Amino acid sequence: MAEKGEEVCQSRSRLLNSIFVRYRAESVENCYKMVMTPPEKLLIGAHTSAAGGVHNALLHGQRIGATTIQLFTSNQRQWKARPLPPEELVRWKEALEATGIQEVMSHDSYLINLGSPKEELLLKSRETFAQEIERCHGLEIAYLNFHPGAATTGSEQECLDQIVKSLLSFEKLCSSGPTRLLLEATAGQGTTVGYRFDHLRYIINAVKETIPIGVCIDTCHIFAAGYDLRTKEACDETLQAFEKVVGLNHLYAFHLNDSLKPLSSRRDRHAQLGKGEIGIEPFKFLMTDPRVRDLPKYLETPDPSMWSDEIQMLREFAK
Ligand SMILES: [Zn+2]
Ligand SMILES: [Zn+2]
Repeated sequence: MAEKGEEVCQSRSRLLNSIFVRYRAESVENCYKMVMTPPEKLLIGAHTSAAGGVHNALLHGQRIGATTIQLFTSNQRQWKARPLPPEELVRWKEALEATGIQEVMSHDSYLINLGSPKEELLLKSRETFAQEIERCHGLEIAYLNFHPGAATTGSEQECLDQIVKSLLSFEKLCSSGPTRLLLEATAGQGTTVGYRFDHLRYIINAVKETIPIGVCIDTCHIFAAGYDLRTKEACDETLQAFEKVVGLNHLYAFHLNDSLKPLSSRRDRHAQLGKGEIGIEPFKFLMTDPRVRDLPKYLETPDPSMWSDEIQMLREFAK
């Protein structure tokens, strides 16, 4: 399987080369500006509401100026999954075309724990997660973002190994559709794993040859987990740490949230952008740094009435 990062880098450097020759650009930076995605085309959105049918999440996205969205494809607090009726799939496809929204992300149910030490909960989680994947395939969703798991009464290492086993069990299912599974970096609240880049690396290395896998970084979570983002330099160091431990080629998306709780608090409480402990700096960084500028970004900030303004602000940063 070709690594995504390599492909992007190779095609970008080929493109840069041809532009460099054709326009005799003065520097590589100028070249980069010439091939940059225009701000209005960058994939920025929010976790919109699927109440009344999944297509409504796309329409909600369009109303707030989103070019991508995240949604729950079923009730996130119930085990019993809602199978999507054919007419809902039709409405979804129509809304996808009408809105032009791309790289849709699904967020898995909060009840699922793929690393549970309890047999019954583990099997139930795997069954429900398999249904999540099937719904994503039906909707041709690009990414299924999921919380890696919680150790509860077991050790972190046992939890990581259980997650790996769970993921490997989806090999056949994953190969039958377009959806990539994304480990969400966590704040490390309670006994959850995934709050150290090493945890993410451990899981990815064990499953990457078998299933399509990657990471979604939540800015609030990694900050609460101890990775500083408050200045440009801190952002750069954190990205470098991710590159060293996991590899930026495994990074596919961001959840953009400020944090109500301080650095290393291991508490997951989202705030509007620039209104929390992190501040506005990392959001400027993420909209300009060439390593991450083009990756899809989804707001999960607490006040949906602010999303339209926040999306507009992010596009301004990207200019
Ligand atoms: Zn989440
Ligand atoms: Zn969170």
